Amino acid sequence: MPPSMQESAARGESGEDHPPCAPLPPDALYIHVPFCLRKCAYCDFHSVPLGIESETDYIEALLCEVRAVSESLRFRTVYIGGGTPTSLSSVMFSRLLAGIDGRLGAGSSPPVEYTIETNPATLEREKITALEASSVNRISVGIQTFNKAGLAVLGRAHDAAQAVSAVRLLRNAGFGNLNLDMLFGWPGQTIEMLREDLGKFLDLRPEHVSAYCLSVEHGTPLARAIRDGSLQPLSDDAQADMLDEVVETMESGGYRRYEVSNFAQPGRESLHNRAYWENRPYVGCGSGACSYANGTRTENTRDIQKYILAISRGERPMENSETLSPEKSARETLVMGLRMTEGINLHEFNKRTGFDALVLCADAISGHVAAGRLEILDGRLRLTRQGFQVANRIWSDLV
Ligand code: SF4
Repeated sequence: MPPSMQESAARGESGEDHPPCAPLPPDALYIHVPFCLRKCAYCDFHSVPLGIESETDYIEALLCEVRAVSESLRFRTVYIGGGTPTSLSSVMFSRLLAGIDGRLGAGSSPPVEYTIETNPATLEREKITALEASSVNRISVGIQTFNKAGLAVLGRAHDAAQAVSAVRLLRNAGFGNLNLDMLFGWPGQTIEMLREDLGKFLDLRPEHVSAYCLSVEHGTPLARAIRDGSLQPLSDDAQADMLDEVVETMESGGYRRYEVSNFAQPGRESLHNRAYWENRPYVGCGSGACSYANGTRTENTRDIQKYILAISRGERPMENSETLSPEKSARETLVMGLRMTEGINLHEFNKRTGFDALVLCADAISGHVAAGRLEILDGRLRLTRQGFQVANRIWSDLV
């Protein structure tokens, strides 16, 4: 390390290169609906099958929380996720959308991007009508795969025909910004099956595709099936080959890989998710939702009854809170930023966090640059194509 870097390192480790800029207020709102038709075999998200809890009480509590946070904040992006928001009854679904629009004052200044997640088995006509009447302008459809065996392995509640029909219904209703979720690398999938899937996804011409490689989460039915030998997981090498296939096919189909697992037509990148990848502040409403502001991360209780009770008493439904040190927050900003193919602007990073990234992680960065896994170009630090293949290893070195 040159002497100048050593000096900087001492400055960086003892505190900051210079004081970071004052944080901006959150302008991204996440709203969680924790209900699904049934639990998918691989799912460890915070969701419960419909009918276990009262959806009416939950939606009223959720709208209360949305009203409270929107009193002092204006949101540029809104994302309703879950769970499956469209698994609500038509009445409660309409109530949710109208309630959010009313509370956000969306009629006068609607969010620039307002996304809702849906599952193809839950998109009835009444729900499309409610979507048309709302400020929602982007829909994310959880298709995952068109393969019959794959849908069964994943325990999805829909079939391939419903997936195609959901996209057609949304297009006919005028929605011009669709994301399709895809999962690959599941037990039994071959590269030919993946190619067939990719062709079907591209035939639907979505503006955006999120393509995730399956990871088997502890405690799920899928993990149990693998443990008892009824399913065989794919090897890491097979999954890596599939990822290469996904990237090549998406890129040759006109989609830019702008984040590890996300591909978009030009100008259709997700603005909301960008707030997470840039480690900017955001607000989460609903059971289990997280918020991040002023270096503190909080999480609402996952217990739906406790959540409803806390809101009805006028209390915050928060269960966990963690305040990050400036250095930890800077490292997280670095790692999250490197999820994007454009990487991070080193000058902006320094201004925002007060740390010089090349000093904060000097050894790890210089090692990966020398090995061709990271590059510094035009004032930006980013992963190379080779780096993306071992991204998890690089991120853990930087944290
Ligand atoms: S639809 Fe999504 S959130 Fe619901 S169980 Fe399946 S993977 Fe989990």
